[in-house]
Amino acid sequence: MKRQIRVGIPRALSYYTFFPMWKVYLEKLGAEVIISEQTNRRILEAGIKETVNDACIPIKVFHGHVFDLANKVDYLFIPRMVSADGKATFCPKFLGLPDMVRFAGVAMPKIIDVRYHIKGFPGGLTRFFIAVAGSIGVKNPVTMIRAATSALVVQKKYKQLLQEGLKPVEALKVVFGSGKRDDYHRSGRSKKWRGGKRVSVALLGYPYAIFDPYISAGIYEKLIKLDVDVITFEQIPNKQMRHYSKVMPQNFFWYYSNQVCWAGLYLLENKNIIDGIIHVTAFGCGPDAMVDKTLELEAKHAGLPFLSLTIDEHTGEGGVQTRLEAFVDMLWTRQAKHRAG
Ligand code: SF4
Repeated sequence: MKRQIRVGIPRALSYYTFFPMWKVYLEKLGAEVIISEQTNRRILEAGIKETVNDACIPIKVFHGHVFDLANKVDYLFIPRMVSADGKATFCPKFLGLPDMVRFAGVAMPKIIDVRYHIKGFPGGLTRFFIAVAGSIGVKNPVTMIRAATSALVVQKKYKQLLQEGLKPVEALKVVFGSGKRDDYHRSGRSKKWRGGKRVSVALLGYPYAIFDPYISAGIYEKLIKLDVDVITFEQIPNKQMRHYSKVMPQNFFWYYSNQVCWAGLYLLENKNIIDGIIHVTAFGCGPDAMVDKTLELEAKHAGLPFLSLTIDEHTGEGGVQTRLEAFVDMLWTRQAKHRAG
Protein backbone atom coordinates (compact mmCIF):
# COMPACT_ATOMS: atom_id res chain seq x y z
CA MET A 1 0.00 0.00 0.00
CA LYS A 2 1.24 3.47 -0.89
CA ARG A 3 2.34 5.46 2.16
CA GLN A 4 0.46 8.69 2.87
CA ILE A 5 2.48 11.80 2.04
CA ARG A 6 3.45 13.72 5.17
CA VAL A 7 3.35 17.50 4.98
CA GLY A 8 4.78 19.62 7.78
CA ILE A 9 3.32 22.98 8.72
CA PRO A 10 5.48 25.18 11.00
CA ARG A 11 3.53 26.52 13.99
CA ALA A 12 4.56 30.13 13.33
CA LEU A 13 3.85 33.23 11.20
CA SER A 14 0.84 32.66 8.89
CA TYR A 15 -0.11 29.50 10.85
CA TYR A 16 -2.07 31.73 13.25
CA THR A 17 -4.21 33.12 10.44
CA PHE A 18 -4.50 30.38 7.84
CA PHE A 19 -3.80 27.01 9.47
CA PRO A 20 -7.38 25.60 9.28
CA MET A 21 -7.50 26.22 5.53
CA TRP A 22 -4.03 24.73 4.92
CA LYS A 23 -4.71 21.66 7.06
CA VAL A 24 -8.14 20.80 5.68
CA TYR A 25 -7.10 21.32 2.09
CA LEU A 26 -4.01 19.12 2.39
CA GLU A 27 -5.84 16.40 4.32
CA LYS A 28 -8.69 16.29 1.82
CA LEU A 29 -6.10 15.87 -0.91
CA GLY A 30 -4.95 12.77 0.95
CA ALA A 31 -1.89 14.07 2.84
CA GLU A 32 -1.11 13.65 6.52
CA VAL A 33 -0.50 17.03 8.13
CA ILE A 34 2.10 17.29 10.88
CA ILE A 35 2.60 20.50 12.86
CA SER A 36 5.71 21.44 14.74
CA GLU A 37 5.71 21.50 18.55
CA GLN A 38 4.69 24.53 20.56
CA THR A 39 7.49 27.09 20.58
CA ASN A 40 10.01 26.23 23.30
CA ARG A 41 13.62 27.00 24.20
CA ARG A 42 14.99 24.26 21.89
CA ILE A 43 13.03 25.58 18.90
CA LEU A 44 14.04 29.16 19.59
CA GLU A 45 17.72 28.28 19.99
CA ALA A 46 17.74 26.21 16.78
CA GLY A 47 16.19 29.15 14.95
CA ILE A 48 18.65 31.67 16.39
CA LYS A 49 21.61 29.46 15.43
CA GLU A 50 20.68 29.20 11.76
CA THR A 51 19.20 32.63 11.06
CA VAL A 52 20.89 35.91 10.29
CA ASN A 53 21.48 37.98 13.42
CA ASP A 54 19.31 40.92 12.49
CA ALA A 55 16.18 38.85 11.75
CA CYS A 56 13.17 39.54 14.00
CA ILE A 57 12.22 36.94 16.59
CA PRO A 58 9.17 35.61 14.64
CA ILE A 59 11.47 34.76 11.70
CA LYS A 60 14.04 33.11 13.99
CA VAL A 61 11.32 31.09 15.64
CA PHE A 62 9.89 30.10 12.26
CA HIS A 63 13.25 28.58 11.32
CA GLY A 64 13.28 26.67 14.61
CA HIS A 65 9.87 25.21 13.75
CA VAL A 66 11.10 24.22 10.30
CA PHE A 67 14.07 22.37 11.83
CA ASP A 68 11.69 20.64 14.23
CA LEU A 69 9.80 19.22 11.24
CA ALA A 70 12.65 18.63 8.79
CA ASN A 71 13.28 14.96 9.62
CA LYS A 72 9.65 14.03 10.18
CA VAL A 73 7.99 14.95 6.87
CA ASP A 74 8.20 14.52 3.09
CA TYR A 75 7.28 18.14 2.35
CA LEU A 76 7.39 21.43 4.20
CA PHE A 77 4.46 23.71 3.54
CA ILE A 78 5.94 27.19 3.17
CA PRO A 79 3.78 29.13 0.70
CA ARG A 80 5.18 32.38 -0.59
CA MET A 81 2.78 34.79 1.12
CA VAL A 82 2.39 37.71 -1.27
CA SER A 83 -1.02 39.20 -0.62
CA ALA A 84 -4.27 38.27 1.08
CA ASP A 85 -6.30 41.20 -0.17
CA GLY A 86 -4.78 42.10 -3.54
CA LYS A 87 -3.62 45.46 -2.17
CA ALA A 88 -1.02 45.21 0.58
CA THR A 89 1.72 42.60 0.52
CA PHE A 90 3.09 40.63 3.40
CA CYS A 91 6.35 41.93 4.84
CA PRO A 92 9.46 41.24 2.70
CA LYS A 93 10.60 38.54 5.11
CA PHE A 94 7.42 36.58 4.41
CA LEU A 95 7.98 36.98 0.69
CA GLY A 96 11.45 35.50 0.89
CA LEU A 97 10.66 32.81 3.45
CA PRO A 98 10.85 29.72 1.18
CA ASP A 99 14.27 30.87 -0.08
CA MET A 100 15.55 31.72 3.39
CA VAL A 101 14.65 28.21 4.52
CA ARG A 102 16.03 26.57 1.38
CA PHE A 103 19.40 28.23 1.91
CA ALA A 104 19.54 27.87 5.67
CA GLY A 105 22.44 25.44 5.28
CA VAL A 106 20.57 22.43 6.68
CA ALA A 107 19.24 19.44 4.64
CA MET A 108 15.54 20.03 4.01
CA PRO A 109 12.69 18.00 2.57
CA LYS A 110 10.95 19.37 -0.54
CA ILE A 111 9.30 22.71 0.02
CA ILE A 112 5.76 23.44 -1.16
CA ASP A 113 6.58 26.94 -2.28
CA VAL A 114 3.52 28.27 -4.11
CA ARG A 115 2.40 31.87 -4.32
CA TYR A 116 -0.48 32.94 -2.12
CA HIS A 117 -1.57 36.01 -3.98
CA ILE A 118 -5.27 36.68 -3.66
CA LYS A 119 -5.95 39.32 -6.22
CA GLY A 120 -9.62 39.16 -7.11
CA PHE A 121 -11.77 36.21 -6.07
CA PRO A 122 -11.71 33.33 -6.97
CA GLY A 123 -8.81 33.57 -9.47
CA GLY A 124 -5.88 33.88 -7.07
CA LEU A 125 -7.23 31.35 -4.62
CA THR A 126 -7.98 28.85 -7.40
CA ARG A 127 -4.45 29.17 -8.74
CA PHE A 128 -3.09 28.66 -5.24
CA PHE A 129 -5.18 25.52 -4.62
CA ILE A 130 -4.24 24.02 -8.00
CA ALA A 131 -0.55 24.71 -7.40
CA VAL A 132 -0.60 23.13 -3.91
CA ALA A 133 -2.35 20.02 -5.24
CA GLY A 134 0.13 19.80 -8.13
CA SER A 135 3.07 20.00 -5.68
CA ILE A 136 2.03 16.74 -4.06
CA GLY A 137 0.95 15.06 -7.28
CA VAL A 138 -2.84 15.47 -7.10
CA LYS A 139 -4.33 16.26 -10.48
CA ASN A 140 -8.00 15.32 -10.13
CA PRO A 141 -10.09 18.54 -10.35
CA VAL A 142 -13.04 17.02 -8.48
CA THR A 143 -10.81 16.15 -5.52
CA MET A 144 -9.41 19.68 -5.59
CA ILE A 145 -12.83 21.35 -5.69
CA ARG A 146 -14.15 19.24 -2.83
CA ALA A 147 -11.02 19.85 -0.77
CA ALA A 148 -11.07 23.59 -1.45
CA THR A 149 -14.75 23.88 -0.52
CA SER A 150 -14.21 22.11 2.82
CA ALA A 151 -11.11 24.20 3.50
CA LEU A 152 -12.92 27.49 2.91
CA VAL A 153 -15.85 26.48 5.12
CA VAL A 154 -13.52 25.67 8.03
CA GLN A 155 -11.48 28.83 7.50
CA LYS A 156 -14.62 30.97 7.63
CA LYS A 157 -15.72 29.33 10.88
CA TYR A 158 -12.26 29.88 12.38
CA LYS A 159 -12.28 33.56 11.46
CA GLN A 160 -15.72 33.95 12.99
CA LEU A 161 -14.56 32.40 16.27
CA LEU A 162 -11.55 34.74 16.41
CA GLN A 163 -13.90 37.64 15.84
CA GLU A 164 -15.98 36.44 18.79
CA GLY A 165 -12.90 36.74 21.01
CA LEU A 166 -11.46 33.22 21.11
CA LYS A 167 -7.70 32.83 20.92
CA PRO A 168 -6.37 30.89 17.87
CA VAL A 169 -5.51 27.87 20.03
CA GLU A 170 -9.12 27.77 21.29
CA ALA A 171 -10.74 28.46 17.93
CA LEU A 172 -8.66 25.62 16.42
CA LYS A 173 -9.93 23.22 19.08
CA VAL A 174 -13.51 24.24 18.28
CA VAL A 175 -13.21 23.91 14.50
CA PHE A 176 -11.43 20.56 14.78
CA GLY A 177 -13.87 19.19 17.36
CA SER A 178 -11.74 18.91 20.52
CA GLY A 179 -13.31 21.86 22.30
CA LYS A 180 -16.63 23.62 22.63
CA ARG A 181 -17.12 27.30 21.88
CA ASP A 182 -18.82 27.98 25.21
CA ASP A 183 -15.95 26.43 27.20
CA TYR A 184 -13.72 29.38 26.44
CA HIS A 185 -13.49 32.79 27.96
CA ARG A 186 -14.39 35.32 25.32
CA SER A 187 -12.47 38.47 25.93
CA GLY A 188 -13.11 41.97 24.74
CA ARG A 189 -16.81 42.00 25.43
CA SER A 190 -17.31 43.84 28.68
CA LYS A 191 -17.10 47.55 28.18
CA LYS A 192 -19.18 48.14 25.15
CA TRP A 193 -20.98 44.88 24.73
CA ARG A 194 -21.90 44.14 28.37
CA GLY A 195 -21.77 47.64 29.77
CA GLY A 196 -19.51 46.46 32.63
CA LYS A 197 -17.00 48.49 34.56
CA ARG A 198 -13.76 46.76 33.79
CA VAL A 199 -10.51 47.71 32.23
CA SER A 200 -10.30 46.97 28.51
CA VAL A 201 -7.08 47.00 26.57
CA ALA A 202 -6.45 46.85 22.84
CA LEU A 203 -3.59 44.38 22.50
CA LEU A 204 -2.33 45.21 19.04
CA GLY A 205 0.37 43.42 17.14
CA TYR A 206 0.96 40.58 14.72
CA PRO A 207 -0.89 37.36 15.60
CA TYR A 208 2.31 35.27 15.43
CA ALA A 209 3.80 37.43 18.18
CA ILE A 210 0.74 37.98 20.37
CA PHE A 211 -0.57 34.42 20.28
CA ASP A 212 2.72 32.59 20.68
CA PRO A 213 3.01 32.67 24.49
CA TYR A 214 6.68 31.71 24.39
CA ILE A 215 7.96 34.61 22.34
CA SER A 216 5.53 37.16 23.77
CA ALA A 217 6.28 36.08 27.36
CA GLY A 218 2.57 35.32 27.71
CA ILE A 219 1.37 38.93 27.44
CA TYR A 220 -2.17 37.95 26.46
CA GLU A 221 -2.51 35.40 29.27
CA LYS A 222 -0.98 37.79 31.82
CA LEU A 223 -3.54 40.46 30.96
CA ILE A 224 -6.40 37.98 31.37
CA LYS A 225 -4.97 37.03 34.80
CA LEU A 226 -4.97 40.74 35.68
CA ASP A 227 -8.73 40.67 34.93
CA VAL A 228 -8.37 42.82 31.82
CA ASP A 229 -10.59 42.55 28.78
CA VAL A 230 -8.33 42.07 25.81
CA ILE A 231 -9.26 43.13 22.30
CA THR A 232 -7.11 42.14 19.34
CA PHE A 233 -7.49 43.17 15.73
CA GLU A 234 -9.09 39.82 14.88
CA GLN A 235 -12.17 40.89 16.87
CA ILE A 236 -12.89 44.04 14.90
CA PRO A 237 -15.85 43.57 12.52
CA ASN A 238 -14.95 43.41 8.81
CA LYS A 239 -17.16 46.39 8.08
CA GLN A 240 -15.17 48.58 10.45
CA MET A 241 -11.85 47.37 9.09
CA ARG A 242 -13.02 48.23 5.56
CA HIS A 243 -14.12 51.67 6.73
CA TYR A 244 -10.82 52.46 8.45
CA SER A 245 -8.88 51.21 5.43
CA LYS A 246 -10.27 54.29 3.68
CA VAL A 247 -9.56 56.70 6.54
CA MET A 248 -5.76 56.63 6.48
CA PRO A 249 -4.38 59.07 3.89
CA GLN A 250 -1.89 56.36 2.91
CA ASN A 251 -2.16 52.76 3.99
CA PHE A 252 0.94 50.74 4.78
CA PHE A 253 2.41 48.45 2.15
CA TRP A 254 2.11 45.46 4.49
CA TYR A 255 -0.95 43.34 5.18
CA TYR A 256 -0.62 42.73 8.93
CA SER A 257 0.56 46.30 9.59
CA ASN A 258 -2.65 47.60 8.05
CA GLN A 259 -4.80 45.24 10.11
CA VAL A 260 -3.13 46.49 13.29
CA CYS A 261 -3.50 50.16 12.34
CA TRP A 262 -7.08 49.99 11.13
CA ALA A 263 -8.08 48.22 14.34
CA GLY A 264 -6.20 50.84 16.36
CA LEU A 265 -7.91 53.72 14.58
CA TYR A 266 -11.34 52.17 15.04
CA LEU A 267 -10.78 51.57 18.75
CA LEU A 268 -9.34 55.03 19.32
CA GLU A 269 -12.28 56.67 17.65
CA ASN A 270 -14.68 54.56 19.72
CA LYS A 271 -13.06 55.30 23.05
CA ASN A 272 -15.90 53.78 25.04
CA ILE A 273 -14.58 50.35 24.01
CA ILE A 274 -11.04 50.56 25.40
CA ASP A 275 -9.09 52.23 28.21
CA GLY A 276 -5.66 51.95 26.62
CA ILE A 277 -3.50 50.40 23.93
CA ILE A 278 -0.61 47.99 24.24
CA HIS A 279 1.40 47.53 21.07
CA VAL A 280 3.55 44.42 20.91
CA THR A 281 6.38 44.91 18.50
CA ALA A 282 9.30 42.68 17.51
CA PHE A 283 12.81 44.06 17.86
CA GLY A 284 14.27 44.61 14.40
CA CYS A 285 10.89 44.75 12.65
CA GLY A 286 11.06 47.34 9.84
CA PRO A 287 7.27 47.77 9.33
CA ASP A 288 6.73 48.16 13.09
CA ALA A 289 9.00 51.19 13.25
CA MET A 290 6.20 53.03 11.44
CA VAL A 291 3.24 51.20 12.93
CA ASP A 292 4.42 51.83 16.48
CA LYS A 293 4.92 55.55 15.92
CA THR A 294 1.56 55.89 14.16
CA LEU A 295 -0.29 54.19 16.99
CA GLU A 296 1.58 56.20 19.62
CA LEU A 297 0.72 59.50 17.94
CA GLU A 298 -2.90 58.54 17.34
CA ALA A 299 -3.28 57.41 20.96
CA LYS A 300 -1.78 60.69 22.17
CA HIS A 301 -4.15 62.61 19.93
CA ALA A 302 -7.12 60.63 21.33
CA GLY A 303 -5.88 61.09 24.92
CA LEU A 304 -5.59 57.36 25.63
CA PRO A 305 -2.68 55.67 27.41
CA PHE A 306 -0.28 53.78 25.16
CA LEU A 307 2.35 51.19 26.01
CA SER A 308 4.82 49.79 23.51
CA LEU A 309 6.33 46.42 24.41
CA THR A 310 9.25 45.21 22.31
CA ILE A 311 9.94 41.49 22.26
CA ASP A 312 13.13 39.67 21.33
CA GLU A 313 14.89 36.47 22.35
CA HIS A 314 15.95 38.05 25.66
CA THR A 315 12.48 39.15 26.74
CA GLY A 316 11.92 38.01 30.31
CA GLU A 317 8.63 37.12 31.99
CA GLY A 318 9.41 39.27 35.06
CA GLY A 319 10.03 42.48 33.16
CA VAL A 320 6.87 42.06 31.08
CA GLN A 321 4.77 41.30 34.17
CA THR A 322 6.01 44.43 35.97
CA ARG A 323 5.28 46.70 33.02
CA LEU A 324 1.82 45.22 32.47
CA GLU A 325 0.91 45.54 36.15
CA ALA A 326 2.03 49.17 36.22
CA PHE A 327 0.08 49.98 33.06
CA VAL A 328 -3.10 48.23 34.22
CA ASP A 329 -2.89 49.91 37.66
CA MET A 330 -2.66 53.26 35.93
CA LEU A 331 -5.74 52.43 33.82
CA TRP A 332 -7.74 51.53 36.95
CA THR A 333 -6.71 54.76 38.66
CA ARG A 334 -7.63 56.76 35.59
CA GLN A 335 -11.00 55.05 35.31
CA ALA A 336 -11.74 55.69 38.99
CA LYS A 337 -10.89 59.38 38.57
CA HIS A 338 -13.19 59.67 35.54
CA ARG A 339 -16.05 58.06 37.46
CA ALA A 340 -15.49 60.34 40.44
CA GLY A 341 -15.11 63.48 38.40
S1 SF4 B 1 6.40 42.21 9.90
FE1 SF4 B 1 8.10 42.55 11.30
S2 SF4 B 1 7.84 40.98 12.87
FE2 SF4 B 1 6.67 40.33 11.07
S3 SF4 B 1 8.05 39.04 9.92
FE3 SF4 B 1 8.19 41.11 9.06
S4 SF4 B 1 9.93 42.03 10.16
FE4 SF4 B 1 9.30 40.22 11.33
